[in-house]
Amino acid sequence: MAEEPKEAGRTTPGFQNPVAGFGVTFKAMFKKRLTEQYPEQQKTTAPRFHGRHQLNRHPDGLEKCVGCELCAWACPADAIYVEGADNTDEERYSPGERYGRVYQINYARCILCGLCIEACPTRALTMTNEFELADSSRANLIYTKEQLLAGLEDGMVDSPHAIYPGTDEQDYYRGLVTEAAPGTERQPALSQGEAPQEAAADSGTDEPASGEVVGR
Ligand code: SF4
Ligand code: SF4
Repeated sequence: MAEEPKEAGRTTPGFQNPVAGFGVTFKAMFKKRLTEQYPEQQKTTAPRFHGRHQLNRHPDGLEKCVGCELCAWACPADAIYVEGADNTDEERYSPGERYGRVYQINYARCILCGLCIEACPTRALTMTNEFELADSSRANLIYTKEQLLAGLEDGMVDSPHAIYPGTDEQDYYRGLVTEAAPGTERQPALSQGEAPQEAAADSGTDEPASGEVVGR
């Protein structure tokens, strides 16, 4: 009968194995703990961390996105869906000719690589430090334009509204528009089914048509 081969490099006699195993445990007891007490204790992310996206506004509240779809083409995960549309004087979302009528990012696909923000020609799309994006529903992971659009800061009026009088699109990118012109009012979002009187009374608590999830 052939002799059983010996285990290479084995120095501890078999009966000592359980004790040797506890040696590893005892050594670990005196090491610095690596456990993170999440979510009770939140860790601060690096300043340029790639988290949830944000669609930025100009200082007067108009949107920077021009609906060009370059971000969607740059995305390796096919996570972005954009539909552009024309601005009109009665319903203007951005200073130029076009705006992003529908904008969605599917976080079930997104790998947070940042290629989309590199591709954006207007710096409309950037990434925030927010990383808590988990959800149990696939539909909830598709963020709509309304969820991604930056909040209103001082001096801003919610879009749609008129361009700052006496300026053009280039002036916005040159930083010449620093706040909404005095008396600027939000226009009714007619393309989203909002009636003029509703717009005056309520700046939109109902989910607009563009909030519908289109992409999958
Ligand atoms: S971060 Fe990367 S994967 Fe996510 S939407 Fe942008 S390009 Fe696509
Ligand atoms: S976010 Fe930027 S790249 Fe994407 S559609 Fe808007 S302007 Fe174009």
